[in-house]
Amino acid sequence: MDYKQMQPESLMMSYGYKPSLSEGAIKCPIFQTSTFVFNTAREGKRFFELAYGLREKDAGEELGLIYSRLNNPDLEILENRLCLWDEAEDCAVFESGMSAISTAMMEFMAPGDLLLYSRPVYGGTDHFINHFLKKLHIEAVGFYATDTYEDILKKVEATGKADRLTMIHIETPANPTNALIDIEMCARIKSHFSTDEKPIILSVDNTYMGPVWQHPLKHGADLVLYSATKYIGGHSDVIAGACLGSKALMARVKGLRTFLGNMAGPWTGWLLMRSLETLKIRMEQAALNASHVARFLENHPKVEKVYYLGFIPKYGSENERMIYARQFKSSGAMISFDIKGGEEEAFRFLDSLKLIKLAVSLGGTESLAEHPQTMTHADVPMEDKKVMHITEKLVRLSVGVEHYNDLIADISQALDKL
Ligand SMILES: *Cc1c(COP(=O)(O)O)cnc(C)c1O
Repeated sequence: MDYKQMQPESLMMSYGYKPSLSEGAIKCPIFQTSTFVFNTAREGKRFFELAYGLREKDAGEELGLIYSRLNNPDLEILENRLCLWDEAEDCAVFESGMSAISTAMMEFMAPGDLLLYSRPVYGGTDHFINHFLKKLHIEAVGFYATDTYEDILKKVEATGKADRLTMIHIETPANPTNALIDIEMCARIKSHFSTDEKPIILSVDNTYMGPVWQHPLKHGADLVLYSATKYIGGHSDVIAGACLGSKALMARVKGLRTFLGNMAGPWTGWLLMRSLETLKIRMEQAALNASHVARFLENHPKVEKVYYLGFIPKYGSENERMIYARQFKSSGAMISFDIKGGEEEAFRFLDSLKLIKLAVSLGGTESLAEHPQTMTHADVPMEDKKVMHITEKLVRLSVGVEHYNDLIADISQALDKL
């Protein structure tokens, strides 16, 4: 059998796992162990040489198991499986999405460097960039989905630090507005400012599209980042993150992960492997449900505007339609909408939902609703929120795998309370 010929969903149950190494168990057991016994001292020495990059791998040699901060079967098999979706060379799984993002940023930037990033980004990422990185004297300049290539070049030049640009971090579609950023345009910005001595890293937070519907590496990104808490985990019961890219870049990311010690544990690895088996069918059902919910909201008299990728072919600008067609394989399952009124109406709607739970997070089997302005994006300065349209009337919905008629009935009764 040639694994390369198969679709990732066919491989999520078995890829990278050898039952004969685990008493024939059909599933990879949880290797709940901190350390691994070497057969001989010489073997231990050779494993460490590889782990610390002191020698090249022999042909066909794999890194032996040493210590669960460096490697563990539940992480390694999971990482191999995650690579299949993005067609990445290597992957590192973390104890949270934030640890994946912050570790990548800390590895590739140094004091005095400049970060270019799209806005809005996830509230936690925004905080890390504008508080923690500032403390390290790493400056950041933001751009919006409406900025053109030339606008962005000007913004970078205006900082006076264009020669210190070392990383571009984008999130698309953006949380919570579904704003689209053109990855290939960002790759051109990267080429514009890159030099041989100072290559720039382009990272894409692909959490909203899971690994199924958008593949940033194919559009010129160097790193793909995930909150695996969301679609990859998919059951709202685990916090985890992932970073994927080339072997060379991932060796650096994994190196820092080893010394920060923020890898995921074996139990998290096992839970995520279990989740990956149903990743595609969960995401497809959620997307189908979202299309029905969005159509219901579109014509509802209590709803002002719906932000949903599926409406881009109909209402989007020419540029948005182009990005949508090129980058996305689905319109996804995240919907935001402006309710008629303000915070009071938004809160009354949220408080009236019954089946849909009022909670942050997204990408789980159950549908969730929240108020970005006062919840996930509470920490973003109000003027910035205005520009990005994170207003008092904006509600965000993560559509799950329930029957869409029940979701629509719940939303309908809650809108009727307004
Ligand atoms: C949730 C989220 C994160 C942070 O992930 P955690 O697993 O909560 O640390 C990062 N980016 C996006 C887009 C998210 O939705």
